[in-house]
Amino acid sequence: MFSSDLYTRKTFLKNMSVGILTATSLPLNAGNDLEDSTEKSSPGDVPEEKLPRSPLNHSTEQEEPAFYPAPRNPAKRVGYAIVGLGHLALTDVMPAFANSKYSKPVALVSGDAHKAKVVAEQYGINPMNIYDYNTFDRIADNKEIEAVYIILPNSMHHEFTIRAAKAGKHVLCEKPMANSAKECEEMIDACKKANRKLMIAYRIQYEPNNALIRDWVQQKKYGNVKLMELFNGQNIGDPSQWRLKKSLAGGGSLPDVGIYCLNTARYLLGEEPDAVSGFIHTTPGDIRFKEVEESVMFQLHFPSGVIANCGTTYGAHMTRRYRLFADAGAWFGMDPAFSYKGIRIELSQSIGKIESKQYPAIEEKDQFALEIDHFSECVRNDKKPFTPGEEGLQDQRIIDAIYQAAKEGKVVSLKKYDGKDVFRGEVPKDDK
Ligand code: NDP
Repeated sequence: MFSSDLYTRKTFLKNMSVGILTATSLPLNAGNDLEDSTEKSSPGDVPEEKLPRSPLNHSTEQEEPAFYPAPRNPAKRVGYAIVGLGHLALTDVMPAFANSKYSKPVALVSGDAHKAKVVAEQYGINPMNIYDYNTFDRIADNKEIEAVYIILPNSMHHEFTIRAAKAGKHVLCEKPMANSAKECEEMIDACKKANRKLMIAYRIQYEPNNALIRDWVQQKKYGNVKLMELFNGQNIGDPSQWRLKKSLAGGGSLPDVGIYCLNTARYLLGEEPDAVSGFIHTTPGDIRFKEVEESVMFQLHFPSGVIANCGTTYGAHMTRRYRLFADAGAWFGMDPAFSYKGIRIELSQSIGKIESKQYPAIEEKDQFALEIDHFSECVRNDKKPFTPGEEGLQDQRIIDAIYQAAKEGKVVSLKKYDGKDVFRGEVPKDDK
């Protein structure tokens, strides 16, 4: 096909009203024609376009998104190798690809060949695209893999990020980013050197209800936030698991679940704390806590004057909530806040003499799909992710300062940063 013909057809398609873009509008061989073109990118090469919703479907009581969902043709989605087929990978991440619009799983990396084969069959992944931790570097030769999603024990994030970058792949890495600030820096450097993107999987920062709370805070909807409290903890089970081994986990409740309190406080305010204090307690004789801490209470002081009181534990009943106390007649927050599903906003407001409790809500979305798709869009459009490696490094530095504060029994000052969202990249789009 000649390029002038292609231009004519593309222009025609672009100029056509989407309302009349039907199968009968296209010659039956349109896809075949385009396949001959040098500009070929996917079967049919129909322009990527958002279809406006029919007005008939609009509710009068509820604001509807203006467009129907616009998933990308599977041939054009970013292909991921999933590294580590554990609980999070199999329960949440693999199923999330079904809800994603710009991403697809194309390869698996696992130390368990049988499990990988079963998962590949379940998700339609080519069994030739299964790797183990020794053969991992061969992903360099596989063009289907554009990115890796690292879902390994914390101590392995550093090694596999660097190996992935060297193999020319973009890296989405689970939290906590690594076990030390030095490791985080090395991961950032490796990705920069390889000109690959690095994002830390802070799913809360891609979740619309949390984004609404962040808007309330930053737009001072209920005045200035003065105090915050954030708690994330659970009663951990099996004493033999990697989370309780310092060499694999890096620490106990703080880097695993306490990190949500720290990262969410920074996200909601858009500020960086300038000082921290902390207390650690571990029950003597509890066989689960031979190597890592049980409970941590820590305080973050922010330059605006906000103080955040944060708590985390591996030794008490599960709680996953936060509250922000503002000076214009309201407190608000979420309970649960850090769960994968069922999150709920709480707003307590004085209206005259009445204290009113409300539960405003935005329709819940698959947090993992939103997060993965954000990274895919950054890869496709060459944008810095909202939560790049620098965001993970900053959490690690603060975690180190909290441990130091608790150990030395003093307030530890942190490097001061001016401005908002100093480490963050492209703001996630409100992509209905
Ligand atoms: P799991 O223990 O369930 O899975 C980890 C997987 O890593 C294993 O199944 C195994 O996969 C692989 N692995 C390789 N080497 C080891 C080793 N020495 N010991 C144990 N596993 C090994 O952990 P999770 O899935 O719960 O957590 C994985 C990561 O995800 C952690 O960094 C955690 O912090 C993070 N996470 C994040 C969450 C979030 O909401 N963002 C929630 C939960 C976890 P294989 O058998 O395929 O080799």
